[in-house]
Amino acid sequence: MDFERTPADILAQLDELRAADAPTAGGHLLSYVYDPGVAELDDLASAAARKAQPLNGLDPTTFPSVAALERDLVGLARSVLADGVDGVVGSVTSGGTESCLLAVKSARDSWRAATGREDRPTLVIGSTAHAAFIKAAHYLDLHLRVLPVDPDTCRLRPEDVAAALDETVALVVASTPSYPHGALDPVSEIAEVCAAQGVPVHVDGCIGAWVLPWWPGAAERPDWDLRVPGVASLSVDLHKYGYAPKGVSVLLYRGRDRHRRQWFATSAWPGYAVVNPTILGSRTVMPIAAGWAVSQALGRSGFEELTGQIARAAQQLRKVVDATEGLRVVGDPVGPLLAVATDPDVPEQCRVDPHRWADAAKDLGWVLQPQPGRRQSDGTELPRTTHLTVTPVTESVVGELGDALVTAADTVRGVPGAQAPADFVAAARQIRPEDLTSENCAAVLGMVGLEPGGGLDGPMAELLALIEALPEPVAERLLIEFLARFME
Ligand SMILES: *Cc1c(COP(=O)(O)O)cnc(C)c1O
Repeated sequence: MDFERTPADILAQLDELRAADAPTAGGHLLSYVYDPGVAELDDLASAAARKAQPLNGLDPTTFPSVAALERDLVGLARSVLADGVDGVVGSVTSGGTESCLLAVKSARDSWRAATGREDRPTLVIGSTAHAAFIKAAHYLDLHLRVLPVDPDTCRLRPEDVAAALDETVALVVASTPSYPHGALDPVSEIAEVCAAQGVPVHVDGCIGAWVLPWWPGAAERPDWDLRVPGVASLSVDLHKYGYAPKGVSVLLYRGRDRHRRQWFATSAWPGYAVVNPTILGSRTVMPIAAGWAVSQALGRSGFEELTGQIARAAQQLRKVVDATEGLRVVGDPVGPLLAVATDPDVPEQCRVDPHRWADAAKDLGWVLQPQPGRRQSDGTELPRTTHLTVTPVTESVVGELGDALVTAADTVRGVPGAQAPADFVAAARQIRPEDLTSENCAAVLGMVGLEPGGGLDGPMAELLALIEALPEPVAERLLIEFLARFME
């Protein structure tokens, strides 16, 4: 047939569009992407995805290859994360958020079945748990109980968990590690206090569970996976350290009945029988095939080798930060994530604000991720930080990166951190929820120089200061307006 445009022309346009993106390979972007730095793996992943392109994961009986791929991935995750444990089953999902949502759905429905109640159970998380659990409570209508973490270690405290348990609690979440600070929650102690009350624990290993098994010192560390009694479910994303393209995660459960409560089936319509393990109906198999192919190629020894590269790079970056006056690594992270904050123990003129530091690093070509500071429910503060996600490719650029981080710190040392303009914050506090219309929000964004539809090319420090200072509902609504206008 005659095309309106030639494929070459269309693909050239795609290249042009992609040119505006942050660099996805080469180690200059320290979040979002997980680059193994191995070209053959990328090629294998695309070839495998191409073979799965026409499939529909909706019906594994029509396409048994889908069941076979998912069975292999669940089997691999079980052998790594539930070694020797009986009755562990699971599903492949589209990503970490879906795995977390489904773990909460299963827990909610298990709680309702066990208690005979139909009202809302409670989800207990630490303040550092991934936002996917806030979303889960929101979508699935659970009460959310957010516990403060230890402000020094950023770890959830088992005694706080024990005090938060009552008959309404359907699930407690522990992170291995947490995304913001890379802190490893004490899973076995948490599971112990929960088991005493009959409350299940979900281990959020979305980011960490595919590196910690191979991380140096793994054998000496206490168990944190499904081998710990009381851990009922565990999530692990293959589109992070499984080096698959986005769209694949694994969710494991102890016990078939708990797993089955994640499913949805209905025969109450005149169409085909709907029997879905996950949220979507028709769904892509491309990232699943790609993740499967990558895991087959690497095997445990390949993951171990790549994890070794990450660990060496992470250790080197930690040394750089430790040696940089005015900055410090938050807590004692275990795994590939680092959060960097101001060192408050040096005189003011020697301090480095982590967001100004990230902006200065960006000017040098390195994209770090600023994270806002937060006051916890017990009044303690989690400082503003800048986050680094270390991947295998980081090791190949770690010298260059370390030099840039030092230069960036030298550039902004002594410059005070950004603060939201006081008059703006005062005005924002007066905004009534019913006034948060699209038009008003766009006007408010314009007041602080964020023109509706504009991008984020400038410094991030001021924007983060706004997020820190605004009341949550206002900040959240403004964030939505900003991104929605950008997408428009
Ligand atoms: C990334 C992540 C998630 C959410 O995963 P998505 O794949 O982005 O949906 C959940 N928990 C942790 C700890 C994560 O790092």
